[in-house]
Amino acid sequence: MTPQPRILVVEDEPAIAELIAINLRHGGLLPVCTGDGARAQRELDAVLPDLILLDWMLPDVSGLELARRWRAHPRSKSVPILMLTARGDEPDKVAGLDAGADDYITKPFSTQELLARIRAVLRRRAPEQTCDVVAGGGLLLDGATVRVSWRGDALRLGPTEFRLLHYLMKHPERVHSRAQLLDKIWGDHVYIEERTVDVHIKRLREALGDAAVLVQTVRGAGYRFAAPTEVRIG
Ligand code: CA
Repeated sequence: MTPQPRILVVEDEPAIAELIAINLRHGGLLPVCTGDGARAQRELDAVLPDLILLDWMLPDVSGLELARRWRAHPRSKSVPILMLTARGDEPDKVAGLDAGADDYITKPFSTQELLARIRAVLRRRAPEQTCDVVAGGGLLLDGATVRVSWRGDALRLGPTEFRLLHYLMKHPERVHSRAQLLDKIWGDHVYIEERTVDVHIKRLREALGDAAVLVQTVRGAGYRFAAPTEVRIG
């Protein structure tokens, strides 16, 4: 139901990159593979991933330096980084974590371990997106079960509409521009046009039925959820 987390894989050994990609796909994740720092940077500039799997030894730049650079940049500073390396030394592990990596995994690793570590990092970074319950205007949205109801009746929303409603309900009575919504809900996908927001708002209203009046258009400004809401941690 929730969108696939996008994982940027920066690994120059094609056999390892391929093995990782296959296993990530099996694990319900969306891998995007790049083999050097320059291509990784271009990919990052285009679409911000949910997590970066970063090899230590790359042909053009060290993974350590990339981790430092991405941590220092406002756009990428909150993207979790999991370092991949053949080195098992304690000083290297410390250097990787000092450079801003969230975790560290030593080759060779089992695919189960890799997936478990990725999931752990994703959970740590986004607890508020998955566990809370938001209520307001007769709607009840449960982030943990990905369910929405209106005055007790279950509604059927697509994953993007769910995230859109979740965001609007968590920040009610404020106007959000299309650019802000793209940034928050689509995760800074710069290739997506602003009218995409309108398409999903339309779908959201269709799914909401009588509750659609709660999602208001503010001409020339954007959209807002027009009722006070209450957030509870589930
Ligand atoms: Ca390498």
